[in-house]
Amino acid sequence: MFMDSKKINSNELLNSIKVVLVGTTHPGNIGATARAMKNMGIVNMALVEPKEFPSDIATYRSKAAKDVLENAEVFDTLKMAISDCELVIGTSARERKVPWPILNPKDASQEVSRGSLNNKVAVVFGREDRGLTNEELGLCNLHVHIPTDPEYSSLNLSQAVQIMVYEIRSAILENEGNDGNWDVEFADNDQTERLISHMDELMQEVDFYEIDNPRKLLLRVRRFFKRSRLDVMEVNIFRGLFAAIQKKLK
Ligand code: SAH
Repeated sequence: MFMDSKKINSNELLNSIKVVLVGTTHPGNIGATARAMKNMGIVNMALVEPKEFPSDIATYRSKAAKDVLENAEVFDTLKMAISDCELVIGTSARERKVPWPILNPKDASQEVSRGSLNNKVAVVFGREDRGLTNEELGLCNLHVHIPTDPEYSSLNLSQAVQIMVYEIRSAILENEGNDGNWDVEFADNDQTERLISHMDELMQEVDFYEIDNPRKLLLRVRRFFKRSRLDVMEVNIFRGLFAAIQKKLK
């Protein structure tokens, strides 16, 4: 659980990053994304419910990045695609109703390059026509908006990916050789999700809220835990406390 202090190694870090495309409609965008990724040395691609994949159009548009497509993993849900990731970054072309920590590509990339030793990072992109759902954005630790002209804020999917992977690569190269900055492994998405469910279970057991009318409570709890980016030790402390309270209640 404890990590040795470790120097940041660019190749290791680039390999720990995966680009996740959710519900992509046009296979050409998948191919162009593969190319954009490989140009920046990021080769792990995950696809959630792509409309058409594998596809000749995707292969054609990927040019010399066919291997990225061949190795791409396909998932039924975003939750499954990111279950092993300790830092999940969601991208969004517009502001959403529930404010989440929102960074520009440069600052988010600094997070990636500093905080991800021994960890997996996912950068998540949405559907061409309607982006990511609020529920999908709620699975993320932080959100990134690429500062576009507000009159026309929506970039082509693969171009949004290109900007993100370029910034991530730049930040990683800049931090090469620096010390990592955390002593305990970060919790992965699955561990944090189980903690959030456990807290919900406990809140229901003590009638903390009306089941039919939780209003924004669950979302706020979720945001708190996601924003905190908990490590494994912290998750264990909360889970242990919740379990102890449940035991006393029985
Ligand atoms: N009409 C959609 C836009 C989707 S564009 C919407 O309103 O959300 C497809 C995807 O490209 C987005 O889900 C996001 O992942 C990425 N993207 C496009 N423009 C972006 C921007 N300005 N900042 C961050 N991501 C962007």
